Amino acid sequence: MAEKTRRIDPEEVETIRELLRSNGIRATPARIAVMQELRAAKSPLTHADVTEKLVPLGFDKATVFRNLNDLADADLIARTELGDHVWRFEVLDPDRPAGEKHPHFVCVECGGVTCLDEMVFTSSSKRRAKAIGRITEILIKGHCTGCEATISK
Ligand SMILES: [Zn+2]
Ligand SMILES: [Zn+2]
Repeated sequence: MAEKTRRIDPEEVETIRELLRSNGIRATPARIAVMQELRAAKSPLTHADVTEKLVPLGFDKATVFRNLNDLADADLIARTELGDHVWRFEVLDPDRPAGEKHPHFVCVECGGVTCLDEMVFTSSSKRRAKAIGRITEILIKGHCTGCEATISK
C-alpha cells in the first residue's frame, strides 16, 4: 500500500506540534498522525476514513476515535453531523473563529461531502432563523458533478 511509503514532512509535523501545544494539549504521535490526515484531506473525514489510513501505521481504532474527540474538544478540529448519523471531522480554519462554520454540500447520490465557502444570510432570513432557534449547521444537498455526469449518460 502506498500509505506505508508516505513521506513525513518534518516541517508539517513541527507545525502540528505547535498547534497542539498552543491549544493546550500534548503532541502525541496519534494526535499528530490524525492531524496530518485531516490537514491533507480536501473534505471532512469520518472515523472510518481516518482509521483506514492509520490502522496500517499501527494505531488502533479506539485510539483514533479518542484522539479525534480530544482534538475536537481542544477546538483544533470540527465535529459535524450532516443528517446521516455519521460524525465527520475536519480541521478548523485558524483564521476563522471556532463558532463560525462553513456550509457543506452533500451529494444525495453518493453521499460525498464537500466544504463550501461561507454564505451570507439576508437580514430577513437572519431574523427568521433567530426566531426559530440557533443554527448549528448549514447543509446544501444536490448531485455532485461526478454523479451528474453518470446520470446524464
Ligand atoms: Zn455524488
Ligand atoms: Zn467543511
